[in-house]
Amino acid sequence: MLVVKKFGGTSVGSLERIEAVAKRIQKDVQGGEKVVVVVSAMSGETNRLIGYAEHFSKLPSPKEMDMLLSSGEQVTSSLLSIALNALGVQATAMTGREAGILTDNSHTKARIESINNQPMLRALHEGKVVVVAGFQGINGSGDITTLGRGGSDLSAVAVAGAISADLCEIYTDVDGVYTTDPRITDKAKKLEKISYDEMLELASMGAKVLQSRSVEMAKKMKVKLVTRSSFNDNEGTLITDEEDIMEKPIVSGIAADKNQARVTLRGVADKPGIAAEIFNALAKAHINVDMIVQNMGKDGRANLGFTVPRTEVEQAKRALTEFHGDVENIDYDDTIVKISIVGVGMKSHSGVASKMFNTLAQSNINILMIATSEIKVSVIIEEKYTELAVRSLHSAYELDA
Ligand code: ASP
Ligand code: MG
Repeated sequence: MLVVKKFGGTSVGSLERIEAVAKRIQKDVQGGEKVVVVVSAMSGETNRLIGYAEHFSKLPSPKEMDMLLSSGEQVTSSLLSIALNALGVQATAMTGREAGILTDNSHTKARIESINNQPMLRALHEGKVVVVAGFQGINGSGDITTLGRGGSDLSAVAVAGAISADLCEIYTDVDGVYTTDPRITDKAKKLEKISYDEMLELASMGAKVLQSRSVEMAKKMKVKLVTRSSFNDNEGTLITDEEDIMEKPIVSGIAADKNQARVTLRGVADKPGIAAEIFNALAKAHINVDMIVQNMGKDGRANLGFTVPRTEVEQAKRALTEFHGDVENIDYDDTIVKISIVGVGMKSHSGVASKMFNTLAQSNINILMIATSEIKVSVIIEEKYTELAVRSLHSAYELDA
């Protein structure tokens, strides 16, 4: 079995941790696995390097930043390879360049364009463990590029796709994907399996185990992913194609996203093109608008409500100043939360949303906004009800451990 194993920053955060990872790989190799390892920088290292650069400049050149930041992953890949060889496991370390990872030209947020798998396959054929520095590649001119924060996950999935690995294991400091945030309820359970689409919905809303781009790529390249802990031997969570999941739960998980704020525009001039102008202005300011509701006001004026990330409220205020003439008043509320239920089984079941609304009503929680998609129902409620809402929904959909 050919397996790509990716170890994140905390998993290789000290020399002791690197040693533990080396021993774990040794066991897997003795058990017959062929292994390509992808590593992150030691935890905190990338931020430390960014701090160094900022000592000299607020706007360091992206090309130099890539050269600087890529060094963090080179340290861990070479050290892990040295540790493996010291244990008698034949290993070789590769930078992104040596591993044949070619990207586009966008420094600090490059996209992988292709991977020449020959160097990795050759080393595997010689019986070696290949240890690849994550997060990096080279562009067409041979300059080092990096893939954006959290990009080692993406390196691992891309490498797994390029060498047709049977599995891509992502090792972190959590056991896998849970039905909801275990800090909210101790009844949260670890999921055995989840589909790519469910994972994408949960990841974009706070269940941050895996970088979203890497899940998208895994789906496209049909790479089976497992997230598990490097601190114990527990089985993790398999993230795979919907077809591989026989029993599709109606609701697989519940996410609570507090990075939300509600903007309400009252008394908006009811004329063609006004919504377009407002959302164009927000788009120009690069603000991510999520839920949108419009309703009839009175005297030919309408009310318009929408949500934006809480971190973007100030930008939204600035972008909306030009509309003061067309709008009676604008208010901002950042004491809200978005609660979402996610599950592929929803596609073939009715009554899923109404159960959510009934459950919240029984707890006396008022719903401020609603949005639905094929596999998700989201509501906006007051932030102070987060725990109550998540706990009552978790038991209503029979997810309690
Ligand atoms: N070291 C990089 C970062 O901190 C990449 C990664 O860890 O995935 O963003
Ligand atoms: Mg990460």
